[in-house]
Amino acid sequence: MTTALSPQHRAASLARMASERFDILVVGGGVTGTGAALDAATRGLNVALVEATDYAAGASSKSSKLIHGGLRYLEMLDFALVREALTERGLLLTRLAPHLVKPVPFLWPLTHRGWERPYVGTGLLLYDTMGGRRAVPRARHLSKTGTLTLAPALRPDALVGGVQFYDAQEDDARMVAVLARTAAAHDAALATNVRMNELVNSSGRIAGVMATDLLTGAPLQIAARHVVLATGAWTGRSDGPGGDVRVRPSKGVHILVPRDRIAMDTGLLTRTEKSVLFVIPWGEHWLIGDTDTEWPFDPSYPVASRADIDYLLAKVNHMLTEPLTAGDIEGAFAGLRPLVAAGAGADTTKLSREHIVRSPAPGLSVIAGGKYTTYRVMARDLIDVAARDLSGRDGQPVPASRTHEVPLRGADGYQQMWEAREQVARSAGLPVTQVERLLGRYGSDLTDLLALMAGRPALKEPMPGAASYLGAEIVYACSHEGAVHLDDVLSRRTRIRIEVRDRGAEAAHHAAELMAAELGWDQAKTASEIGRYQDLIAADLAAEAMPDDLSAFEAARDRLGRVTPSEQSPPIPSIQGD
Ligand SMILES: Cc1cc2nc3c(=O)[nH]c(=O)nc-3n(C[C@H](O)[C@H](O)[C@H](O)COP(=O)(O)OP(=O)(O)OC[C@H]3O[C@@H](n4cnc5c(N)ncnc54)[C@H](O)[C@@H]3O)c2cc1C
Repeated sequence: MTTALSPQHRAASLARMASERFDILVVGGGVTGTGAALDAATRGLNVALVEATDYAAGASSKSSKLIHGGLRYLEMLDFALVREALTERGLLLTRLAPHLVKPVPFLWPLTHRGWERPYVGTGLLLYDTMGGRRAVPRARHLSKTGTLTLAPALRPDALVGGVQFYDAQEDDARMVAVLARTAAAHDAALATNVRMNELVNSSGRIAGVMATDLLTGAPLQIAARHVVLATGAWTGRSDGPGGDVRVRPSKGVHILVPRDRIAMDTGLLTRTEKSVLFVIPWGEHWLIGDTDTEWPFDPSYPVASRADIDYLLAKVNHMLTEPLTAGDIEGAFAGLRPLVAAGAGADTTKLSREHIVRSPAPGLSVIAGGKYTTYRVMARDLIDVAARDLSGRDGQPVPASRTHEVPLRGADGYQQMWEAREQVARSAGLPVTQVERLLGRYGSDLTDLLALMAGRPALKEPMPGAASYLGAEIVYACSHEGAVHLDDVLSRRTRIRIEVRDRGAEAAHHAAELMAAELGWDQAKTASEIGRYQDLIAADLAAEAMPDDLSAFEAARDRLGRVTPSEQSPPIPSIQGD
């Protein structure tokens, strides 16, 4: 079976799902689910994964995009969580995904004389030490002048000095697509736009699921010896099969502004009353976030309100000599942290970022909580629980997790290509900066894109309306990265929806033409994909004009009157059978 996530791969996966009995069926294609599929597949298990919408359509495309130990957990004295996350950061930076995960500098401005420098300095020293083998530079102390030289945009009266430290960042949605591709390369069957409706119960055990192929409406029964739910904010919404696992979605909003609007050579982290504010360098933009508020509405469509945006602007402007205005905003997005619920009424900023795994019924395991950075540990713990159930039934031991030694697609050969990037650029007829950008997105799989562009030189052209992307990236998203809708390409395989001031309205037409040729769309289908994408951005913009969450949610829902089934909330699953 081909390992590119092409339409043929999806069809072959669906055929397998209809005919085979899998060892493990993963429900949910976020970072946890794709990580679990990879973990199980690399143990030699027969694995399938279904995702209701698209890879990373939930929280896994809406994060702050940091691979970090979490300084605030250090402050909460949660050393084990910080150490675990820093170990994962090191693994990703050096072995598993050096093409996708990169060090990022942060400035911590000091605002109090005396106690604050030793307090912050000791914390960051501990952070550096816990990070183990050097994967990022060490923290360094800065005088007030040094801080302002690094960050002239900051108000001199808002700080007394600073400390610079390093963490790591990635493009969250891309990494999930790469995880899915890596799982496919280890023979997992994967399909997006397949929604689980019900769990199937046979003789007191979960034996698979009833699902729907949302592209055709066809029902699908998938047989599996063990089902794992990695459904993020959708988990345990009511009396579903999540058992006592309850997730309390907490909404986080980010905005993007042009890089030249803040004169700074570093990211910024400052404290807020409830949490922290990040200003993160993100290509030609700054990513500013985030918020942390309860979201009691449909988890399929969290949106930013004007209150969220005003809050972020106020917090960042507190630090800046030249304040940002709403007119500077290029994009905004909202996501839901799938936090494990404590008692009702607890403040979401205080809920644990740690994960839990439960087996509420024989043949079924559920994971909740956690964070992107520790996806590999979460996936390992989830499959360990499933593996114990499998080997308890047939006496066959399941090998231990080996994902700590399995590089993601594009990692092998990346370093050599990076070193040869000038030569690669010359022979491809592309600027070196473009090759560097592409290497950071595709790693050594850039070879495939170069072959595509060599055969179709027009695909080297920048996308009209989104000039930092090339036409080849749109085509490749369909042929190799599982994109089937225009939204998949503009929101997640590229980040045009959040990076371009018109939210991708112009690029949508050009991207749709390229996709139509690749996926065989006729005119009507192409027009409906464009219309659907326009509805999505209209919903975002309508919500962003509203003063609070309820009116923002209602405004978005009204705009999405024409939603297609794959955008509807996956229903709360129930258990079917005897
Ligand atoms: C604002 C914000 C900032 C964050 N920043 C960071 C950060 O910087 N670093 C960090 O480490 N972590 C961060 N996190 C946390 C991290 O993003 C999440 O913990 C992680 O992405 C959750 O992944 P997941 O796979 O568990 O859930 P999700 O990504 O939400 O995936 C769940 C998937 O299940 C699918 N699904 C649901 N029901 C069904 C069904 N019935 N059938 C089929 N599929 C179904 C959904 O469509 C969805 O794609 C942040 C989170 C947020 C919201």
